[in-house]
Amino acid sequence: ISRFDRPTNTRVFVVANQKGGVGKTTTTVNVAAALALKGLEVLVVDLDPQGNASTALNVPHAEGTPGVYEAIVEGTALEQLVQACPDIPGLTVLPASIDLAGAEIELVSLVARESRLDRALQSYIAEREAVGRRLDYVLIDCPPSLGLLTVNAMVAGREVLIPIQCEYYALEGLGQLIRNIDLIRAHLNPKLEVTTILLTMYDGRTRLSAGVAEEVRGHFGDKVITTPIPRSVRISEAPSYQQSVITYDGTSSGALSYLEAAREIALAGSGRVTR
Ligand code: ADP
Ligand code: MG
Repeated sequence: ISRFDRPTNTRVFVVANQKGGVGKTTTTVNVAAALALKGLEVLVVDLDPQGNASTALNVPHAEGTPGVYEAIVEGTALEQLVQACPDIPGLTVLPASIDLAGAEIELVSLVARESRLDRALQSYIAEREAVGRRLDYVLIDCPPSLGLLTVNAMVAGREVLIPIQCEYYALEGLGQLIRNIDLIRAHLNPKLEVTTILLTMYDGRTRLSAGVAEEVRGHFGDKVITTPIPRSVRISEAPSYQQSVITYDGTSSGALSYLEAAREIALAGSGRVTR
């Protein structure tokens, strides 16, 4: 089995785009699965009250299940909240239940409201390192908004991964996202950087997809992952079986493209100091 190199430090990715349905959750789940299946230690933080990433990784998250809400609102240690993905060794999940829906409002009146996830995550990263199980990757799946939950992700993270759907209006809202990232960098997290753009739902037969890809590459250059993720039925079916596309159908084009995208991400991080 080929393995990916471990990064020098834990790499924390914020998977963000305030548009819904662009492939944030699908990308979080499948890149995380690919990295873990290639021998790395990976944590997925499900920061969307819908809990779709928790579902796809086969981790319980019914109402009342302790998870990211308890971490950021109540300050519970992550050690007590994370769950192992039962199907993929090396992959752990901080689940989200619908209880998280209230957090956006509750956070407003809490102290250090923008940095609560950062605090919780940094002590967990240190804890894992101390017990000899260093995390290689953390992927935070953001909700489709730029509210306080997403701000918490951007304060906790170092690298932003933006999935862009190869459709009409794909670039709409991107300017606002970049401006928000600039604001976070200026005021809350100087280390935050957009490092990775992933083209999703790419349809090679259409001029539209090619056009979007060309425009995105023109704007973001080599931050754009070379491998676009194709529109694939297997990718959209996998979550209903509580699977990543790689464990669901490892030879499908969707699985292979996510493995390839993850390989590019891992290569970009090898030998680079990221914390
Ligand atoms: P977001 O988290 O940004 O809202 P999702 O990852 O949930 O977006 O994707 C939205 C929908 O599109 C889901 O139903 C998902 O299964 C589907 N989807 C995502 N990527 C692909 C793809 N490459 N091919 C086909 N369907 C996809
Ligand atoms: Mg989502």
